Amino acid sequence: MAEETIFSKIIRREIPADILFQDDLVTAFRDISAQAPSHILIIPNHLIPSVNEVKASDEKALGRMVTVAAKLAAEEGIAEDGYRLIMNCNKHAGQEVFHIHMHLLGGEPLGRMLN
Ligand code: C5P
Repeated sequence: MAEETIFSKIIRREIPADILFQDDLVTAFRDISAQAPSHILIIPNHLIPSVNEVKASDEKALGRMVTVAAKLAAEEGIAEDGYRLIMNCNKHAGQEVFHIHMHLLGGEPLGRMLN
């Protein structure tokens, strides 16, 4: 069994977080250390430590994460100018919290990461 992280406590509302969206599959909240004017984390409600552990049965939650990202980008007013979705996996990507999360970043030009 994978060990719970602080994100499980956020999902259960046991610790404070600026939750913007929650349904049966996913939760979205503002990143505590924003790296852009809009920086939101979208996570599945069930624990998947990293992308390496994703199973076919997780596809519904992972799909919902993208749908919710698009909805929140529209609500933040950043959809037209654009934004970035990032999922870090393990140490080379700098993953710190081992509960899958999608970063939604926008609100200013982000610079190019890939060429
Ligand atoms: O992808 P990575 O694992 O590095 O990202 C973890 C993110 O979780 C960081 O951006 C950090 O600021 C955020 N975080 C948070 N609230 C916490 C703990 C971490 O928003 N209580």
